[in-house]
Amino acid sequence: MKVLVINCGSSSLKYQVLDMTNEQLLCKGLVERIGMEGSVISHTKMGHDKVKKEIEMKDHKDAIAQVLAMVQDPEQGVVKSMDEIGAVGHRVVHAGEKYANSVLIDDSVLEALEECVELAPLHNPPNLLGIHACQALMPNTPMVGVFDTAFHQTMPPHNYLYALPYEYYTKYGIRKYGFHGTSHKYVAQRASAMLNININDLKIITCHLGNGASVSAIKYGKVVDTSMGFTPLQGLVMGTRSGDIDPAIVTYIRKKENLPQGVVNDILNKKSGVLGISGISSDFRDLEEAMAEGNERAELALRVFCQKVRFYIGAYIAEMNGLDALVFTAGVGENSDEMRAHICNEMGNLGIKLDLMKNKVRGQERVISTDDSKVKILLIPTNEELMIARDTYEIVSEL
Ligand code: AMP
Repeated sequence: MKVLVINCGSSSLKYQVLDMTNEQLLCKGLVERIGMEGSVISHTKMGHDKVKKEIEMKDHKDAIAQVLAMVQDPEQGVVKSMDEIGAVGHRVVHAGEKYANSVLIDDSVLEALEECVELAPLHNPPNLLGIHACQALMPNTPMVGVFDTAFHQTMPPHNYLYALPYEYYTKYGIRKYGFHGTSHKYVAQRASAMLNININDLKIITCHLGNGASVSAIKYGKVVDTSMGFTPLQGLVMGTRSGDIDPAIVTYIRKKENLPQGVVNDILNKKSGVLGISGISSDFRDLEEAMAEGNERAELALRVFCQKVRFYIGAYIAEMNGLDALVFTAGVGENSDEMRAHICNEMGNLGIKLDLMKNKVRGQERVISTDDSKVKILLIPTNEELMIARDTYEIVSEL
C-alpha cells in the first residue's frame, strides 16, 4: 500500500508518499506561500532532481490539488492514478485528552479536533484545513490522524497537573499535554532497536532539539514526563520561545512596557529563546559561528540553552530512578556535535560519558558514548513522516 503523508501549516504544507510494503520513500515535497502571492511547490521524486513550480494556490484545497497533480505527473509522479494511494496520514498537533493513539478520521474525530482548536489556535486550524481539502479531493480514501500529543497521554496526573485551582483542569482542560510526540516515539523505538533491548525494559530520555525543542522521559515504553506543557511554549529554551519562566514576569513586562493584550505572548513565542538572549539569530548555526568569533551574547544564549537541557536530563533521571539511553534528535540534536558535547559535559557521575571522537558525526544513527559509559548516548535522526505512514498503514490495513 502507498501512503500519502500530509503535514499542513498555516501557509505551508509538507508531503511525502511512501510505499509501505518496504517503507520506501517515493517522493517528498513542500508547498509554500499558500494563499499569498508567489505560491510555489517544490517536489523531489527520489533519485531525481528537485523541481519547483510557481503556481497560484489561493487556499489549502488548491495546494492539495497541486500535490495530487505532482504525485500523478507522468515524469515527476510516483503513481499512475490516485487509486494507488491506499490512505492519507495527517499530522495533527493537538488532540487534547481524547486520543492516546492515532485514529481513523470520521465525523466524531473531526468534531473532537475542532474542540481542540482553542488549545492550539495556530496549529489545529491548518491541520484541519488539510484534512478537509483531502476529503474533498479524495472522498473514498481513508484518512488517519496522527497526533503530537498522543504519545504523551501515558503521563501520570502528578506530572501533568499544574498547581492551579483544580477546576481549571476540569473546566478548561488546563494541564500539561506535551508535543513532538511522534518524534519522541519514533526515536525511542529506534533506540530500542539499535540497542537490541525491548523498549519495555528501557529507561530512555529523548532530546528533540530543533527550532522547537522538548525532552521526554520514557520509562518501559511509556512517557512519564515531558518538558512542553499546555502549549509548546513551556520547557526548554528554544529558537524563539522562552521555555520555562517565572509566570509573574508576564504581568510585570506588560505593565512596564505598557503593552496591549497578547503582545507579551508574542514576545515569549517569537522574540525570546536563543534569539532573545543573543539578539542575533534563532538559528544555531549562526550562533555557533558568532560564538567562534567571540560574540559573548551568542555564547551566553547557547549556554542557557544547554543548561536547560541538562536540567531536564537530571530531573528525568531522578523521575525514572536511572537511565539506560540518552537520545539526541532534530536539527540541533542531529547536527551539532558542539551542543551535544556541552550538554553531556561532566555528567560522568550520572553514568553519561560522551565519546568526543564518535560524537563527530551528523545526521546518522550512531552510538556516541564511550564503551564504558553506563548510559548509551545515541544520535538518531527523527522521521515523523515514516511514523505517521506506519500508523496510517497499520490502521487502514485492519479495515
Ligand atoms: P528543526 O526544527 O528540527 O528543523 O531544526 C532546526 C534547527 O536546527 C535550526 O536552529 C538550525 O540552526 C539547527 N541546525 C541545523 N543544522 C545545524 C548544524 N549543522 N549545526 C547547528 N545547528 C544546526
